Amino acid sequence: MRITEVLTKNSFSLSFEVFPPKTDAAFETVRSSTEQIALLGPAFVSVTYGAGGGTSRYTLDIAKNIKDRYGVPTLAHLTCASSTREEVRRHIGDIRAAGIENIMALRGDLLPDSPPEEERAYRHAVDLIREIRSIDPDFCVGGACYPEVHPESRNSEEDIRRLKEKVDAGCDFLTTQMFFDNALYYSFLYRIREAGVTVPILPGVMPITNAAQIARAIKLSGSFIPHRFQSLVDRFGDDPKAMKQAGIVYAADQIIDLFANGIRNVHVYTMNKPDVAEAILRNLSDILG
Ligand SMILES: Cc1cc2nc3c(=O)[nH]c(=O)nc-3n(C[C@H](O)[C@H](O)[C@H](O)COP(=O)(O)OP(=O)(O)OC[C@H]3O[C@@H](n4cnc5c(N)ncnc54)[C@H](O)[C@@H]3O)c2cc1C
Repeated sequence: MRITEVLTKNSFSLSFEVFPPKTDAAFETVRSSTEQIALLGPAFVSVTYGAGGGTSRYTLDIAKNIKDRYGVPTLAHLTCASSTREEVRRHIGDIRAAGIENIMALRGDLLPDSPPEEERAYRHAVDLIREIRSIDPDFCVGGACYPEVHPESRNSEEDIRRLKEKVDAGCDFLTTQMFFDNALYYSFLYRIREAGVTVPILPGVMPITNAAQIARAIKLSGSFIPHRFQSLVDRFGDDPKAMKQAGIVYAADQIIDLFANGIRNVHVYTMNKPDVAEAILRNLSDILG
């Protein structure tokens, strides 16, 4: 099922994000945890893709397994900055052959060994979106967006102008980078609607369940940490069980606020933690129905 179809359902829903194994040896463990996540009945599951493309096969295997065995729609991520045209085209064909209808089209983070911009087959995500559209217009294509501005952008106006180009190139929906202050999302939504971006924007929420994770999350996303969240980490960071519970409740509270403010679908960066996904659902059981 296409993600855009999933999003038209008139009920509150959560989708979950998982990541593929980095090695053959880890495959069974990842498959098992992603299956447990699929069994929780999310609206869809998205499967990330290594920026260098090295684990590309696993993204597809995990996404196909969840779709085929549990009937849960899947979204296969695909990055392009470090790939050749042939690799990308082959991979798009493999996604189609696996019966997956949804691709998250990303540039990917630039790695130390990524080719310089002028040598890249695809410079930006918009080039990949055009490629996917030209190969198979029937794919449902997602893109990334950044309520707190992508770190490489000069300012929010430029970031939103580039975002509009992605949508004009054929992006059907967008998912945000994680944020910990919903006001940033509401303000972003207002600005992009004003700029003429009308596709669905899935807010991305990450439950932070240990103190080390927060440092990683900030490094990755540059997200603003509100005082309310920082004090929770300061108070419970040294107590793993308490921190986990507090992080889950904080994320659930963010989701409830999003639902209360008219958002129906939230994407949760549960990564490969079925217990965290399950605890979020438990906190929202009567709301999700
Ligand atoms: C929801 C989500 C999922 C993600 N999943 C993955 C994943 O699975 N694997 C992974 O490796 N990474 C993933 N990332 C991280 C992502 O790859 C990085 O944030 C990357 O740095 C940018 O990717 P993008 O697709 O947003 O790039 P782009 O849309 O290309 O934007 C990157 C920068 O270039 C600018 N830009 C865009 N188009 C142009 C243009 N035509 N000319 C000049 N400047 C331009 C933008 O404003 C921005 O500053 C994800 C991020 C998000 C938010």
